[in-house]
Amino acid sequence: MLKFSNNKYFPKPNLSMKGGIDPWGSAEIGDYGKVFKEFGLENYCKSEYGLDYLVFRRGIAIAHRDFGKVYERMKSGKPFINMTGIASSGPLHFGHKLIVDIFRFFKENGGKNYFGICDIDAFVSRPKIKTLKEAQEYAAKNLADILAMGLSEKDIYLQSKKEARYYTFSYELSKKLTENMIKAVYGTLDPGKISANLLQYADILHGQLPEYEGNMPSVTAIALEQDPHLRVARDLARRLKKFELPSSIYITHQPGLTEKKKMSSSEPDTAIFLDDTPKAAEKKIMRAFTGGRDTIDEQKNKGGKPDVCKVYSMLRFHHPDDKKLLDICERCRKGELMCEECKRFAAEFVSAWLEKHREKREKVKAKARDIVLGE
Ligand code: SF4
Repeated sequence: MLKFSNNKYFPKPNLSMKGGIDPWGSAEIGDYGKVFKEFGLENYCKSEYGLDYLVFRRGIAIAHRDFGKVYERMKSGKPFINMTGIASSGPLHFGHKLIVDIFRFFKENGGKNYFGICDIDAFVSRPKIKTLKEAQEYAAKNLADILAMGLSEKDIYLQSKKEARYYTFSYELSKKLTENMIKAVYGTLDPGKISANLLQYADILHGQLPEYEGNMPSVTAIALEQDPHLRVARDLARRLKKFELPSSIYITHQPGLTEKKKMSSSEPDTAIFLDDTPKAAEKKIMRAFTGGRDTIDEQKNKGGKPDVCKVYSMLRFHHPDDKKLLDICERCRKGELMCEECKRFAAEFVSAWLEKHREKREKVKAKARDIVLGE
C-alpha cells in the first residue's frame, strides 16, 4: 500500500466556522481543528487506526468518537453494528456514494448492517418535500442506486416500513430527551425537525435492542455536520444505561464542483448525480473550479494547486488507484500537467463509472420500487 501523508492530501480550507454545526445547512465546514476541539472529537488522521481503504488512507475520514471499540471488534473478527442512512430528499450524488462506499467497507469487515433510507425524516424536516409519497418516490430511486452499489435488501430499511418496535423505541427516547438538551445542541428547532430527530436517534441506537443485535459497539459513518445527532444519541444511550455508547467516523464533505460549496442536491451545478448522463457529468467537470493558473505559461512555471482543485477532489474521493492519484498530484504541482488534460481524465473516469452504474441500476430498479412502494 502506498503511504499517503495527510498534510499533502488533506486540504485545509480556511473558512471560519460561526454558530456551531448545522446538520441541515449547505456551507462547507472550514476550520476543522476548531470544531474538533469544541465538540470533543478525536482526529482520525492522527489516530492509530490505519484502515486500508481509500477513505482512511487519503485523509477523507477526519475524526471519530470512540472508534477504538469498533476497531478492536474488527481486528478480532467479532461483530459490530454498522449503521448509517440518508434522507430521501433528492437524487443521490457522488457525495452520497462515499457514504455507501464506507458502509460497504464496514459490511465487508464484519458489520451487522443497518442502512436507513429515511423517508419520514426527509418529509418532516425538509420543507421542499411536500408529501410522504414524494419522499418515497425519491427513496425508491435512491434505493435503486444503493442496491446497484453493492448493498443488499437485507442491509437496508425504509423508515416508514420499519417494525413497530422501532417506533415505540423512539417514544422511549423522547422520555429521556429534555428541552435543554435540544437547545444546547441545536438551538431552536421546529416540531418537524424534533420528530425527525427522534427517529434519527432510534436509527443510531435501535440495533442494540434485544429484538435486533443486542448490546454491542456500533459505528455510524457520517458527514461532520451530522455530529449533533450523534452527540444526542450518545447522551440518550448514557441516560438509558443499557447500551454501548455509539461510535462514529466523520468524513469531510466532498467539495462541490463550484467554489466554496459542498456537493448539494439543491444546487445541481455543485454535484454530479448518480443518474447524470455521462455527457452531463463531463460538462460539469470541464466547467469545475480548479487549482490551475490563469495561463499555461504560469502553470508551467508555478505549478497548479491540487489542494484547492475540485477536479482533484473528485479523483481523491473516488478514483481507486493511489499511484495514479499521486502521479497527478505531483505532476500538477511541478507544472507538468495542464488542467485540460487532467479534466479529460477525470471526466472519462466519472463517465465510465456512471455508465456501468446505470447498467447495474436498471437491473434493480423494479426491485427497489417494489420494496419501497409495493409496486
Ligand atoms: Fe486540478 Fe488537475 Fe488542474 Fe492540477 S492539473 S489544478 S489537479 S485540474
